[in-house]
Amino acid sequence: MRGAEAAAGGEARLRLPGFVRGLLFDLDGVLTDTARLHATAWKETFDRLLAELAERDERRFVAFGESDYERYVDGRPRDEGVESFLASRRISLPSGTAGDPASALTVHGVANAKNERFLEAVSAGGVVLFPGSARLVALARSAGMRTAVVTSSANAPAILVAAGLEGAFDAVVDGNVAAARSLAGKPAPDTFLAAASDLGIPPAAAAVFEDALAGIEAGRAGGFGLVVGVDRRDEADALYASGADVVVSDLGELVEEG
Ligand SMILES: [Mg+2]
Repeated sequence: MRGAEAAAGGEARLRLPGFVRGLLFDLDGVLTDTARLHATAWKETFDRLLAELAERDERRFVAFGESDYERYVDGRPRDEGVESFLASRRISLPSGTAGDPASALTVHGVANAKNERFLEAVSAGGVVLFPGSARLVALARSAGMRTAVVTSSANAPAILVAAGLEGAFDAVVDGNVAAARSLAGKPAPDTFLAAASDLGIPPAAAAVFEDALAGIEAGRAGGFGLVVGVDRRDEADALYASGADVVVSDLGELVEEG
């Protein structure tokens, strides 16, 4: 990428334009590789439910499959994922309420069961931090840049602890913060703008790092100085089309080792 390069500690350099003073990172897919944990938690939750219903209703057990994950749950809010998959199996459960226990045979109960399994996997050490991302964050901090995590996940604190990133950012705007401050989610720019404001950095002097198209759109809509697409799924063209200034396949590409 073009642009002046900011010196950062020792000999390594950040390959970022000189006007960038604040870095705003999405979490899932940018800093941490948590997609596999979500997929496994969904499969365990649904297979257990399907086995229970098969026994109760004397119907055949058909396991939750990989295509089910892609078609019905990936990227959707948790409750909607439960409803869409169960509908595909012609299974109807009462909606229930958000506080339902994980054992409840309700949509919210199943969603809560999935979240409990996901958090168990997180605390069992299942979170993988992308090494290139860790390198970039460490270098940026040693260069005196301000950093924030901006994610719709409500599990951000647990994931950051598991990834060894507790306290590594100057601000965290996650799903809980967004709800408390009534911030619209991505693709609206509100959560990124709130994070930049928390850092005391104007959007024009901040860079957004995102792997989701909705996140790239949010960065573009917020008028940020640099929008970096992180291409984890071979979709560089789509990231550029959504408004990315630069697309990298790993954040380590933005570090020039001395
Ligand atoms: Mg992401």
